[in-house]
Amino acid sequence: MSGPLDLGIHQLFEDAPCGFVAHAPSGSIVLVNRTLATWLGRSKDELLALTFADLLTLAGRLFYENQYAPLLRLQGSVKDAAFELVRSEGPALPVLITSTEQREPDGSVQLVVSTVFDATDRRRYERELLNARRRAEELAAVVTASGDAILLIGPNGVVRTWNAGASRLFARDAAEMIGRAVGEILPALHPGAAWTRVIEELGAGRPHQFDTVGRAADGAAVDVSVALAPHLGPLNELDAISLIVRDVSARREIERLQQEFLAMAGHELRSPITAIRGHAQLLIRRGAYSESSISTIVRQTVQLDRLVEDLLLASQIEAQRLELRIGSIDLIAEVHAAVDLMRSEERSITLAAPAAAIPVQADRQRLGQVFANLLTNAVKYSAAGTPIEVRVTDDGATARVAITDHGSGIPADALPLLFDRFYRVRETAAKARGLGLGLYITRRLVEAHHGTVEVESEVGRGSSFVVTLPVAG
Ligand code: ADP
Repeated sequence: MSGPLDLGIHQLFEDAPCGFVAHAPSGSIVLVNRTLATWLGRSKDELLALTFADLLTLAGRLFYENQYAPLLRLQGSVKDAAFELVRSEGPALPVLITSTEQREPDGSVQLVVSTVFDATDRRRYERELLNARRRAEELAAVVTASGDAILLIGPNGVVRTWNAGASRLFARDAAEMIGRAVGEILPALHPGAAWTRVIEELGAGRPHQFDTVGRAADGAAVDVSVALAPHLGPLNELDAISLIVRDVSARREIERLQQEFLAMAGHELRSPITAIRGHAQLLIRRGAYSESSISTIVRQTVQLDRLVEDLLLASQIEAQRLELRIGSIDLIAEVHAAVDLMRSEERSITLAAPAAAIPVQADRQRLGQVFANLLTNAVKYSAAGTPIEVRVTDDGATARVAITDHGSGIPADALPLLFDRFYRVRETAAKARGLGLGLYITRRLVEAHHGTVEVESEVGRGSSFVVTLPVAG
């Protein structure tokens, strides 16, 4: 007898939004609904000829035999276990299975009834969630590893997140700074008129950028560039502000050096020009030839020429446009020539060199400049009466030229910076004029000849600059 209610229940069973399957203790399927048959692409009759394990993939069958079935026997039911079911066509169907044992009054198992839920969507969500998490983790890794300080603050200026870069820059860690006012590290962001204007800009969705001075934990000031970007909420309200804070002190230092250099270059260039103009005017006024004025003009022109040459050479080196005219030359003859040029400036310069020529592959003019620079410095940074010694040696493979003075010497902490562009030792800078380009050019020229230049120095005793060059085979 089947009434309308039975019919309804039957239909519900057959077409439920989940699968139903019952199997005997032997595993044989004894009951299955239409939904599951449709999902698996098989007829109900086909399924009734199979065992429950036949529905599972190989991995699923192993899990079923070793874990699921024993657990079911132990507990009488197992909930929401993830399996994949084999379909007649297409990829396996991800499902969640809940099984319950039905027992006889004597306790023996009569049937295992299972409900099968399609987990395709759930798997997709899980995958999406996993991908989203991975993306978030990747982004977090970028933020963590960034050399810049990256932080998030609320519209009230309170710090919400703080990366490792921020800890490095401001010497404060996240635990210390989260919950504190950003004004503590960036005084420009203290509440006030300027901050209100920034907030208005950000509230309108416009990012903001400015240079300011940050404050580290020990009170040290650090030049920074700050980029602020608004994070707007669902109602377009300002929800948070991200800050990327970059340490620009190195850039500032370069700007300062450049400024200093321009001032110095202006000064250095003006002095010979003033001298030349003065003596030229003197000649005009007197209307007569004056040997001393003419020789001053020539000397100053040479000085001017040297300065301009240094500047041009430095910019060629910077732009990697240094061109050498390499030829085979005798190193000793070059050192001789350079020493002779300097001797005319009334200084005792002794030269010790082997009798035989030392052939090197070099640009004669540039190599001459190297020795002229080192000799000029030896003269500039030592007292008038002290001697300068030049010694050339050669072991067949490498030639060595040492230029030794008995002058002021160079402090140890200045030695690593000595060959940098524009660098001048503070202690001696005021005593002798210069642009801080000579040694920079010297090292680059020597290196372009596959050689080295090194310095040994002691304050108060003097310095020794040693150039090595490969001997031509
Ligand atoms: P400049 O002489 O124009 O300042 P250089 O690049 O030739 O520039 O030298 C850089 C600095 O190195 C100098 O300012 C000076 O302080 C130091 N220096 C170079 N040579 C000597 C030396 N022989 N003795 C002492 N100090 C030296």
